[in-house]
Amino acid sequence: MAKSLMKDKKIAIIGGGIAGASIALYLSEIGLQVELFEKGTSLVNGPPICHLHAGGNLYREIPDQQCVTLLKESIEALRLYPDSVDYRPTVIAVPQQDTGEPLALLPRLNLLQAEYQKLIDQDNQNQVLGKVSDYYQLFELEELQRLALLDEVKVPKTAQEWMIPFAKHVDLSLLKYPVVLVQEFGWNVFRLGATAALSLEKNTSCQIHLNTKVIKIDQNKQQKWQVTFAKDSIQESVEFDYLINAAGFKTGEIDDLAGFHRQRLVEFKAAYVTKWQGTNGLWPEVIFHGERGTPEGMAQFTPYANNFVQLHGMTDQITLFDNGLVATSENSSQPQLDSQFLRKIDTGWLEQEVIDRGERAIAHLSRYIPTFKQATVEGKPLFGAQQIPGEDANLRAAGVSFENNNYARCEIVKASSVLTCADALTEKLAEIGLLDKHLVGGRLFPITHSLSDEEITERSELYTQQRGYPIALAYRNIKQS
Ligand SMILES: Cc1cc2nc3c(=O)[nH]c(=O)nc-3n(C[C@H](O)[C@H](O)[C@H](O)COP(=O)(O)OP(=O)(O)OC[C@H]3O[C@@H](n4cnc5c(N)ncnc54)[C@H](O)[C@@H]3O)c2cc1C
Repeated sequence: MAKSLMKDKKIAIIGGGIAGASIALYLSEIGLQVELFEKGTSLVNGPPICHLHAGGNLYREIPDQQCVTLLKESIEALRLYPDSVDYRPTVIAVPQQDTGEPLALLPRLNLLQAEYQKLIDQDNQNQVLGKVSDYYQLFELEELQRLALLDEVKVPKTAQEWMIPFAKHVDLSLLKYPVVLVQEFGWNVFRLGATAALSLEKNTSCQIHLNTKVIKIDQNKQQKWQVTFAKDSIQESVEFDYLINAAGFKTGEIDDLAGFHRQRLVEFKAAYVTKWQGTNGLWPEVIFHGERGTPEGMAQFTPYANNFVQLHGMTDQITLFDNGLVATSENSSQPQLDSQFLRKIDTGWLEQEVIDRGERAIAHLSRYIPTFKQATVEGKPLFGAQQIPGEDANLRAAGVSFENNNYARCEIVKASSVLTCADALTEKLAEIGLLDKHLVGGRLFPITHSLSDEEITERSELYTQQRGYPIALAYRNIKQS
């Protein structure tokens, strides 16, 4: 019977971000006994997640193979968490001053379109990004000038309708042509957290320990892990058969506790929450390409409900920070972030910092969308530090790594990699006799998929309020059709 190997086995997962929570969800839904330790007050409360990256088209600098991986993983993640996705497309524009050419994006878009077709051929349920023929569309200046004369549509349905606000309000003279519209959707971190938490709370195979920090881990001669954790200054130790380190940008701290050395980077970044008077219809996401780390760095306009807009600007004065990227040292697997970043994470931002960077973000975007000048900064940014395994700061598709000691770490760069990590973990657990072989890669999510949109919305509203963000960030503009 399915539980024969697994009955008395226990898995500890350190870190209740999207990686730890999704792995807990996956393993407990197939019947493994899991305990999830999270030092914060709720799950998936780390750095933001706002784009699904179904094709990685925001990153010109990464190799095609990573884009193909991101496409596949995004489709899988969307199928796991369908109610957390905002089903609106992304427009990609190349500004005149940029050295890149829009047509240079075409080979990759064609490759991704062909890969999308292959994924659908393997499993028809992978058709979650719309028709293959609609994966991307190109718009020349003349067509945009024609669209600019039309009225905006409250809830756009066709690619042309989505382009109307762009055509009407973007300064078209600043761009190279064609402009691309691609089916890269939005992803809502509050709804993701709500889905994972609600599912795990209903699952008797999973025990969630919130406000609980893991402070010590030791392995005994039988390869079992003794995990010591503290909650309200009370310490306790429990023995586990397997340990999964999903501690996000603190993965190195757990590696240090376990005595394993591993190279990684940690990067601190922020995106800004603004409110705009809006126009007469819903907007797509809009990306203006630019060289990262220069004053012309990519500008990203991410629409939420009720005219809230999240902004990234890939310059050192907006999303990126001087000394915001740090690496491991010889003595420790934990890269050390400067105290100014830890202060932001642990106690919050100074009001002036929020205003200065937020206003720069508005100025960066309103170069292209002139009426966006009137937007205002609305409270604290979406921000945080994230881990990047290895030494390549451009790595986007990453996952799980193992030690020969019943120890794995799950270091994702993009949230969509969680299922790849979880699949690999099931293989490893079966190999060492902790999981029945027929459950390897067994993506069964009956509890998660029984959740209603209403209960996810209700919990997301609560999270926005608890975390000090506008309640509108709990909603999405477009639900699955
Ligand atoms: C500005 C910004 C924008 C981003 N946008 C996107 C995006 O659009 N799409 C996307 O896919 N990704 C995006 N990312 C990356 C994404 O946020 C991360 O990849 C993802 O959140 C990592 O998840 P995680 O679970 O590995 O880590 P985390 O979310 O950091 O979770 C780790 C958890 O471990 C807990 N923890 C640590 N140590 C201990 C301990 N000792 N005991 C108990 N608990 C512990 C922490 O409290 C934390 O909750 C963005 C990142 C940033 C900074």
